[in-house]
Amino acid sequence: MQAESLACADPNDRAAGPLRALACDPAHSRGRRFAEPPAPTRNAYQRDRDRIVHSTAFRRLVYKTQVFLNHEGDLFRTRLTHSLEVAQLGRSIARALGLNEDLVEAIALAHDLGHTPFGHAGQDALNACMAEHGGFEHNLQSLRVVDWLEERYPAFDGLNLSFETREGVLKHCSLANAQHLERTEPGGVGRRFLDRTQPSLEAQLCNLADAIAYNAHDIDDGVRSGLITLEQLLEVELFAHYHQQTLAEHPLLFEKPRRLLYETIRRMLSDQVYDVIHTTRQAVAKAGVHSLDEARLAGPLVAFSAGMKSSSSELQKFLHGQLYRHPQVMHTTGQAQQVVNALFLAYVAQPSEMPAGFATSADLQRSVADYIAGMTDRFALREHERLTGCKLL
Ligand code: MG
Repeated sequence: MQAESLACADPNDRAAGPLRALACDPAHSRGRRFAEPPAPTRNAYQRDRDRIVHSTAFRRLVYKTQVFLNHEGDLFRTRLTHSLEVAQLGRSIARALGLNEDLVEAIALAHDLGHTPFGHAGQDALNACMAEHGGFEHNLQSLRVVDWLEERYPAFDGLNLSFETREGVLKHCSLANAQHLERTEPGGVGRRFLDRTQPSLEAQLCNLADAIAYNAHDIDDGVRSGLITLEQLLEVELFAHYHQQTLAEHPLLFEKPRRLLYETIRRMLSDQVYDVIHTTRQAVAKAGVHSLDEARLAGPLVAFSAGMKSSSSELQKFLHGQLYRHPQVMHTTGQAQQVVNALFLAYVAQPSEMPAGFATSADLQRSVADYIAGMTDRFALREHERLTGCKLL
């Protein structure tokens, strides 16, 4: 058996030291909302990760849409497999940079917990339903899930995660929501959106790992579904480059299109990962930051090079135009929006159709949004049929 090339491990070796000083340290976490004694065998971020994996919201991700609705095929990504891929990519980059892998894993596994059923179509519909009641943002909802909605512990709501994990989960936040968070938790996770400072490098890294993951797996799922073709993809510079490189090295793969596709995607993924590692090291050196506090005041440090950023956004534009807005996808998302709308109206009109904890809330609309956001695709469809007698999708 041949040993794996050490060249692949190179990003792990050099210059990891300087970034280690910028990594979050579980021993110096800003702590949990409710004080708890430390766990005997796990650090704070490992414990957060374990709490996320055991949560109800995490298990629901398996039946939530990423791009393709859950029942459209067994091999398409779901929110769960997407989250696992983000965690894998995130950990690889974190290891190479000397950042905290456990924190990256916790953030990555939790980053999509607040997603509604039916992907972005569901979120847009719920946001429209909530327009007069504070709106709906899936990032803020992920925080609501881990802070309030999970019911697992005797003494507090939510999972009581560490500040650094919660900060990473709240990837984006509107100014109005940040102000609201600041009122309820002064100096907490909403603060950075008001101060315009950066989150930890681990949180920044998860944002990028998210984009790297979905750009790659949406190509795979898009081709598998037949909605995008290889010919179309060859017009995208990033894809065409690695496709050509693969064929030059393995001309016989021309007859094995699936292997050729996988190898092209694999190379794309690897180079994006190495690009982030290299560019981040350079950015940290250039910024001259030596501590996490300094890094929070610098601009974003975990980034693609200018060239990779433009190639990646070209690919993103392609996927938006050709896949996410494909007539077939739009048709199903239109129906998904109808389902979410109808459910919202039905529960607001008849709160007793929801479980007691949601039905008796003082803020009915928010409670309905929480209930719908927590649904899997298929549960939402079943509820829609039960409440309206109408079968969609
Ligand atoms: Mg994601």
